[in-house]
Amino acid sequence: MKRTSTPLLGGIEAGGTKFVCAVGYPPDNILALEQFPTTTPLKTLGRTLDFFRSQPRLPDAIGIATFGPVDVRPTSDTFGFITSTPKLGWRNTDLAGFVACSLHVPTAFDTDVNGAAVGEHAWGAGQDIENLLYLSVGTGFGGGAIVGGVPVHGLVHPEMGHLILPRAEGDDFKGHCPFHGPCLEGMASGPAIKARWGIPAESLLPDHIAWEFEAHYLSLAVTNLILTLSPERVIMGGGVMQQEHLFPAIRSRVQSHLNGYVQAYAVLHDIDRYIVPPGLGNHAGVLGAMGLALSL
Ligand code: ADP
Ligand code: ZN
Repeated sequence: MKRTSTPLLGGIEAGGTKFVCAVGYPPDNILALEQFPTTTPLKTLGRTLDFFRSQPRLPDAIGIATFGPVDVRPTSDTFGFITSTPKLGWRNTDLAGFVACSLHVPTAFDTDVNGAAVGEHAWGAGQDIENLLYLSVGTGFGGGAIVGGVPVHGLVHPEMGHLILPRAEGDDFKGHCPFHGPCLEGMASGPAIKARWGIPAESLLPDHIAWEFEAHYLSLAVTNLILTLSPERVIMGGGVMQQEHLFPAIRSRVQSHLNGYVQAYAVLHDIDRYIVPPGLGNHAGVLGAMGLALSL
């Protein structure tokens, strides 16, 4: 991307439920934004192209932050593909290739949660640090990590949602993950909460025992991830984290699980600013996608 002036960025937040597309100069100057439901690849990607083609000019670069699993290995034949998703019709879809070839614009591609982590790092709650963790507790459970300023990939990409954790006392729910039953996502995602209690998570009162269980799983996951990745901040977003009472419950449990072992001021004395909600608010997902385009 030639940076003769501030680049015009495009973003595609490809979610399992909806797509959000935007162009502009993030984070403050978003010139156009449109969202539409995720249906078939043909229709949804058609609308995506229409959105960008209807703008006065095409962006200099586009970032795609997508639901997965995806292939993020640049050397792979299927780089930029959504791979083994159970979502009907989307398996083996060449998302990045399709957008790049149709619009002739350089395209960056990563998971939705790595996108969110990159966006928070660039403009949100992680601006002052180089190592951070972004966890999304929503329809699934996703984790994106930035280590040394760079989003982490590997064999595939981290799949923090499928950690296997000890059960909460008295929790005999069989779990909701089609692969592992009672893994983290299977016990603590929004649909898992609904399947366990028969009530959507957003309708459960704050004193319901569901939140004890939720704090149990989330705090264990955060503890294990702090021990593994040593993040300088843990940002927790997604629909379920709109239950603000979860934050103090998770923070105190994490301190208690770590039991003084990690000798860091942030954990021992400043946990309210260590485990935090996202800083980017409403359009965090698509801003994260735009953030990915900064790497081009
Ligand atoms: P997605 O994961 O599809 O991007 P969300 O992050 O909004 O979307 O997650 C949706 C899930 O979050 C649903 O399972 C829903 O029940 C749950 N959810 C949404 N709002 C709330 C809320 N205020 N409190 C608890 N759970 C919520
Ligand atoms: Zn699982």
